[in-house]
Amino acid sequence: MKNICTHIPGYPRIGERRELKTALERHWRGELPVTELEATGRALRARHWAQQHDAGLDFVTVGDFAFYDQVANHIQLFGCEPERFGFQDESALERYFTLARGRSGTAHCGCGQDSHDSHSGSAALAMTKWFDTNYHYLVPELHAGTRFALSSTRLFDEVAEAQALGHAVKATLIGPLTFLWLAKSTDGSPRLDLLERLLPVYGQVLARLKEQGVAWVQVEEPILGLDLPQAWRSAFDTAYWQLNQAGAPLLLATCFSPLEENLSLACRLPVAGLHVDGVRAAHELVSVADWLPVHKVLSVGIVDGRNIWRTDLDAALATLAPVLEKRNGQLWLSTSCSLLHVPYSLALEVGPEVGPEVGLDPEVRSWLTFAHEKLAELAVLKAAIEQPAAAAEALATSRAAIAARRASPRVHDAAVRARLAALPAGAARRKSPFAERRLLQGARLNLPPFPTTTIGSFPQTPAIRAARAAFKRGELATASYEAAMRAEIEDAIRRQEALGLDVLVHGEAERNDMVEYFGEHLAGFAFTQNGWVQSYGSRCVKPPIIWGDVSRPAPITVAWARHAQSLTPLPVKGMLTGPVTILQWSFVRDDQPRADTADQIALAMRDEVDDLQQAGIAIVQIDEPALREGLPLRRGPRAGYLDRAVRAFRLTAAVARDGTQIHTHMCYAEFNDILAQIAALDADVITIETSRSAMALLDAFGDFRYPNDIGPGVYDIHSPRVPDREEMLALLRRAQAVIPAAQLWVNPDCGLKTRSWEETEAALRNMVDAARQMRAEE
Ligand code: GLN
Ligand code: ZN
Repeated sequence: MKNICTHIPGYPRIGERRELKTALERHWRGELPVTELEATGRALRARHWAQQHDAGLDFVTVGDFAFYDQVANHIQLFGCEPERFGFQDESALERYFTLARGRSGTAHCGCGQDSHDSHSGSAALAMTKWFDTNYHYLVPELHAGTRFALSSTRLFDEVAEAQALGHAVKATLIGPLTFLWLAKSTDGSPRLDLLERLLPVYGQVLARLKEQGVAWVQVEEPILGLDLPQAWRSAFDTAYWQLNQAGAPLLLATCFSPLEENLSLACRLPVAGLHVDGVRAAHELVSVADWLPVHKVLSVGIVDGRNIWRTDLDAALATLAPVLEKRNGQLWLSTSCSLLHVPYSLALEVGPEVGPEVGLDPEVRSWLTFAHEKLAELAVLKAAIEQPAAAAEALATSRAAIAARRASPRVHDAAVRARLAALPAGAARRKSPFAERRLLQGARLNLPPFPTTTIGSFPQTPAIRAARAAFKRGELATASYEAAMRAEIEDAIRRQEALGLDVLVHGEAERNDMVEYFGEHLAGFAFTQNGWVQSYGSRCVKPPIIWGDVSRPAPITVAWARHAQSLTPLPVKGMLTGPVTILQWSFVRDDQPRADTADQIALAMRDEVDDLQQAGIAIVQIDEPALREGLPLRRGPRAGYLDRAVRAFRLTAAVARDGTQIHTHMCYAEFNDILAQIAALDADVITIETSRSAMALLDAFGDFRYPNDIGPGVYDIHSPRVPDREEMLALLRRAQAVIPAAQLWVNPDCGLKTRSWEETEAALRNMVDAARQMRAEE
C-alpha cells in the first residue's frame, strides 16, 4: 500500500500581479492605511493557501508570508529588535518597516545585493543573500546581552486565519541554529552562545502552535547543507532534544545543498520528519532513506524549487522508486525548497502583445513550470505512485513536453558547439602580459595620474523611463525612441566633459537592466511578462530564461558606443555585462553544465568586444558584479567554479588587442578569499566598491600586491548624500598607502542610475577636485 502526502516548503508572497509590492509602496508613501495593507496581505495568503489546497496538497504552509522578509518576521517573533533603533511607542509594523528601511527613509539601493551598511542615523538592518539564491534577507543583529522573548502573535494569527478558512496547516519557522548562523554579532561575541537563551522562546512558539492544533511544524535548517564548524553541528543535538519537548510534530527541513557529513546527524535528530532537497542532493536520497528511522516521515523535494523547467516525471519516479521501497511505500513529496525563488504562474504569460515586446515563446513556454504548475506536478507524482492508471494521461502529456524539448532543433546550434570545440589554445589569454599592454595603452590614451571615470550608468530620469515604456508598448516609433536615447547620450557626454572627467561613459540610457538588455539581444534567451521573483522587500526581478545555445545574431552596443565616441575627443568606455553575471541572474538551462552555458555567453560577448574595438573604442568595460555570487555553498566545488568563471571572463576579454584597455567592475562582495582569481581575470583595470568599508577592502588588495590597475570606489552611490572633496581625498590617501599611486584610478562605488543628476554632478565635481589635488601632491 503506497501512501503519499504532498506539501511545499513555502510559496511566493509578492502576488502574481505584484499586489504586495504596490500596496507596500503606497503604504510607505502614506497613500494606503495600515488596515488596507493588512487586508492585502490577508487576501494574498488566502489566495495562496487556496491554490495549495486546490492542487490537492495535504497541508497549506503558514508562516512563509512576510511584509518584507521572513527573517525580519522572526526578529519580531523573538523580540530581538536591535536597541540602536531606540523604539518607543511605534506599532509593531512601524518598527518592522524601520528595521527594513532605516529611519531616515533611505531605502535599500536596489542595485540588488550584499551588505547595505549604515549611511547615518538609524540605518536599516544590513541585507545579504539568502544562501545562494538571489533573495536577500535582513540580517539580525545580536550581541552578548541580547535577550529573547516571544513578542509577536503574527504567526499564530496567520495559523488561525488559515484554519478559519478550513485548511489543514503546516506552520513553518526558521530553525534556531540557522537563525543564529544568519545573524551577525555586533560585539564579536559568539552567536552560538545565545542558543540557550533562544531555545525557551522556540519552546513557547511550538507549544502555542501545538495548542492551535497545527498538523506539523516545519523547522527550516538549511545550514545543514553547509560546511559547519563542529560546535554548530554538536549544538543541533541539544537544540532539537529541547525543541522536541514541546510535543509538536517537527519536520526538519533542509535544502539547497547536499547534507554530506551532516547526513547522519540530520537523520538521527529527535524530530518526527526530515525534508531533503531531492534535486541538488538527489545522490543522497538512498542513504537518507536508509539512515532515517522508518517511523519518521521522509519528505523528498523532488520538484525543483529553484528553476523553471518542467519536471521529468519519469525520471523523478525512477529516482523515487528505491526510496519508496525502503520506506515501505510511505513518502512525502514536495518541492526542493520554497517556491519563493520562482515566478507564480505560466497562466500569466499570455503570449504576444502589441508593440516590440513579444510574449513568451509558446514552444519554450511548453517546457516550463512556475510555482502554480509545480503544485500540479506534485499531484501527478502522487497519483502516479498511488494509482498509476489515473495518472497515465497527465504523465503522457508531461512526457511529450520533455521529449519535445530534448528533440527541439532550436535548442542546439551546431555552429556554437563547433566554435567552442575548435577554440585555439590561447583563446582565453591576452596577447601580451599586462606590463606590455600598459605601455601601449598609456601611449594611446594619454591619461593623467589618478584618472577619473564612472562605472557606467547615469541617472535613469523619468523621461528616459517613460520613453522606454512607450516604446515597449508600441506607442513610440523606433526612430523616435533611438533619437531620444541619442540625445540622452549626448547630454551625458556634455555633462561629463564639463565636469572634467578623463574617461567617459555613454550612460546606459537605453538599458532597462544590465542583464535583461543583453539577453534581449542574444539568441537562446526568452523573457516573461510577469515572471517576477522577489529580490528583497518590495523589489522583484524578472530573470531571463536561457533555454538554448547562446549566440549573438548582431552587434548590440556598437552603434550607441560609436555615437557616444563621435561626440568627444576623450575616450568613451564600451560597456558590457560579463558572462558570469548574465548567467547568475538568469534561469539557466538544466540540460548541460552551467559552465558550458557560461562559455557560450562568453563567446557571444567576445564578438561584442571585438566589434567595439574595430569601431575605434579604446576601452571596454566588462561588468562582473555577480562573479562571487556563484560560489557553491560547499567548499569542495568552489575551486572548480572559480576556474570556469575566470575562464569565461577571459574568453570574453582576450580578443582585445594589447592597445585595447579592458576594465571590469565588481560590487557588493567580499573579495578577500578570491583575490587570486580576481587577479587571474587579468583585466587592465578593475573598479570595486570600497567606500562603505572606508577602503578596508583595499588592504587585502594591497597585501596581495594586486598587479594591475585598480579603481577603489571613493563614494557611496546608494545614498543621496553628496560627499565633499576632503572625504574622498582621505579615502584616496588611504588607498595610496596600500596601492602604488601609478596603479590607482578614481571613481564612485557603482553606477549612478538610481541617483538624480543634481546629486551626481555635485558628487562628481568633488571627486574630480579630489583627483586633481592628488595629482598636485604627486
Ligand atoms: N555598468 C553598470 C552600471 O553602472 C554596473 C552595475 C553594477 O555593477 N551592478 O550601472
Ligand atoms: Zn556595481
